[in-house]
Amino acid sequence: MKAAPFDYVRVDSIAGCVRALQEADGDGKIIAGGQSLAPVLAMRLARPSLLVDINRIPGIAAIEHRDDELRMGALVRHADLLEQQHSPLLAAAARWIGHPAIRSRGTLGGSIAHSDPSAEWPVVAAALEARLTVHGPSGSREAAAGDFFLGPLEPDLQTDEVLVRVDMPIPEAWGFAELSRRHGDFGLVMAVTAQVHGTWRVAIGGIAGVPLRVPEAEALLNDTTSPENVRAAAQAAAAAVSPGDDLHASSRYRSAMVEEYAHRSITQALTQATARPVGVS
Ligand SMILES: Cc1cc2nc3c(=O)[nH]c(=O)nc-3n(C[C@H](O)[C@H](O)[C@H](O)COP(=O)(O)OP(=O)(O)OC[C@H]3O[C@@H](n4cnc5c(N)ncnc54)[C@H](O)[C@@H]3O)c2cc1C
Repeated sequence: MKAAPFDYVRVDSIAGCVRALQEADGDGKIIAGGQSLAPVLAMRLARPSLLVDINRIPGIAAIEHRDDELRMGALVRHADLLEQQHSPLLAAAARWIGHPAIRSRGTLGGSIAHSDPSAEWPVVAAALEARLTVHGPSGSREAAAGDFFLGPLEPDLQTDEVLVRVDMPIPEAWGFAELSRRHGDFGLVMAVTAQVHGTWRVAIGGIAGVPLRVPEAEALLNDTTSPENVRAAAQAAAAAVSPGDDLHASSRYRSAMVEEYAHRSITQALTQATARPVGVS
């Protein structure tokens, strides 16, 4: 199948992007890397009358390292995140995204705006409590990742808004574990554990419409990281989710895998935390 006809405009500013989207009156779509949008268009799951290409907007493709956080433009490619060395968690997660061709075109902003629950960036953003900067007709607003993913493929974005920046802290220790049928496939289960400013966070992806934080697991780890609590935290992660059956896996299998992959990500993070010399954060 081929995409339905559409008009195309390439904009060179955020304001120009918002203006073009407004003029399309709800029927325009931003195109960034095109790695999710192009298949959607080809299958005619969406028929926008206008594509607004943001690839030439200056200033939104850079990674800025500030103290203990990264400020990343929406056009930062998955490959850039794989190569950067400031946040090893982001590099580890990027390695799981598709294949080199997809990683060289696909963007951080596009993945977060697409809000696929089986994609890596949404669950990482949830775990790190990423802050998202969104521009629209009435100016700029900041959104917390925890509020941004409303449902599968349903971001908190109006049709005339553009995501321009994603800020994420660099965790002191982290673990990322993913189960997928083949390397490069979307995740059946993803688990992220991160210690940020001394506090443990655990998020699970791939098993619900949005990434899930697991406060019960976090409370256990923040109390003490004894082996008993680590096991109990992984069990709490499995207990907190209720995955359904689908073509790829049964609910029972997914629940068991949530416990296993949560355990792996927690253990990986703790190995780093204990290897760190005292006084070094
Ligand atoms: C074969 C294949 C395998 C893949 N495997 C994986 C995988 O394992 N893991 C994974 O996470 N992803 C995977 N992807 C998807 C890929 O990561 C995409 O790059 C990503 O989901 C979307 O980013 P994009 O820049 O390509 O966005 P686009 O496809 O250009 O856009 C996606 C959606 O986001 C909107 N959008 C884009 N940018 C913005 C913005 N700045 N502001 C507001 N809205 C915006 C668009 O309008 C569109 O609705 C795969 C893709 C393919 C084709």
